[in-house]
Amino acid sequence: MRYITVLGSTGSIGVQTLEVMETMENARPDGLSTYSRIELLEEQARRFKPDKVCVVREDKAKELKAKLSDTDIKVLSGPEGLVELAESEKSDTVVTGIVGIAGLIPTLAAIKKGKRIALANKETLVTAGDIVMSEAKAYGSEIIPVDSEHSAVFQCLAARVNKEDYEKEVDAIVLTASGGPFFGRTRESLENVTRAQALAHPNWEMGAKITIDSATLMNKGLEVLEAAHLFNMPLDKVEVLVHRQSIIHSMVRFCDNATIAQLGVPDMKLPIQYAITYPKRMIMTNNELDFLTCGPLTFDKPDTDTFRCLALAYRAGGIGGTMPAVLNGANEEAVALFLQDKIRFLEIADVVEAAMNSHKVVTNPTVDDILSADKWAREYVLKSLHKI
Ligand code: NAD
Ligand code: MG
Repeated sequence: MRYITVLGSTGSIGVQTLEVMETMENARPDGLSTYSRIELLEEQARRFKPDKVCVVREDKAKELKAKLSDTDIKVLSGPEGLVELAESEKSDTVVTGIVGIAGLIPTLAAIKKGKRIALANKETLVTAGDIVMSEAKAYGSEIIPVDSEHSAVFQCLAARVNKEDYEKEVDAIVLTASGGPFFGRTRESLENVTRAQALAHPNWEMGAKITIDSATLMNKGLEVLEAAHLFNMPLDKVEVLVHRQSIIHSMVRFCDNATIAQLGVPDMKLPIQYAITYPKRMIMTNNELDFLTCGPLTFDKPDTDTFRCLALAYRAGGIGGTMPAVLNGANEEAVALFLQDKIRFLEIADVVEAAMNSHKVVTNPTVDDILSADKWAREYVLKSLHKI
């Protein structure tokens, strides 16, 4: 029996991971966590009977401890509790379903134990990709992407027989983007879009933060940086192509122009399952792609004048050092403010850009430098809000 830690088990990725795991005979979740959703975590804990769970918010952790006092399940708390779950000797794989840079420290802790990381938390690679990838190499930890585009690229690259020097043979990684709910719109028409309109994603049901990131195209920007780190590619070899139907999950174009794509219905369960079972595949049902009804498949150029976050992400990645952490931290704060109706949709890109313009970059940053840059960016955004 294999045991799998699911960080952020109460979120969109976490819940789907547990659904996938219910179909597996030889793997069980052990180590579940939430920020504060203790009702759902209690249900999950009673169902899967893990040794340990973690609630990041201390007051909520106390409540859950009381609720689970009739069981042997240990309730941990705080960010240290997440690290303890990530380091658990029992599990060989950690699914990182936490949202935001909060996923970084527990992911690094699991890497140091040589575990497989089924990586959903893209912010980990965006902010600290150099450190994460080199630590993974040093500790023999495999990083298998869960993000659907990166899983697609990973599967396209796995099709190659020559495992050496693949970087030289890749002409470009082509990440597909749905374009989000505001595809085709002008900047002027986006002045007054509401939270509800931005949350209405055409193809995917996901957590609120990534859904807003999909509407601004910051999600694709973060994914470009994620891909560059995961697949060791320069940014100019990571392209974005709008593909409204989300059927082609991404592609790799090789130096002879052979292009390999991975297709499927838009469903995160396949990339989640593959990250756990890789290099094996396991039967899945009810997710067969019907070519006769899924088309026509369309392709468009991303509009980076309207959706400036995508261009900002390329810029941050090009500058490197602590700049991607500032891009990410400012964006996390701006999205939270937008979700509280405190700033407008187009202001998300404005405040991220302003934070980047004011940041003094630290090159070759340590984890502490990255966390400080993140904190600085969040404070910058909050301060600029008071000036608006
Ligand atoms: P979500 O908001 O639905 O869930 C987030 C989870 O993280 C919850 O369990 C929450 O309790 C926990 N959490 C939130 N803040 C935390 C904190 N500060 N410390 C510790 N735990 C915290 O998010 P999601 O949509 O499941 O996304 C999770 C990650 O996966 C994100 O990085 C996202 O970009 C990535 N991702 C998600 C999808 C998707 O389909 N949902 C697809 C690709 C990638
Ligand atoms: Mg994605």
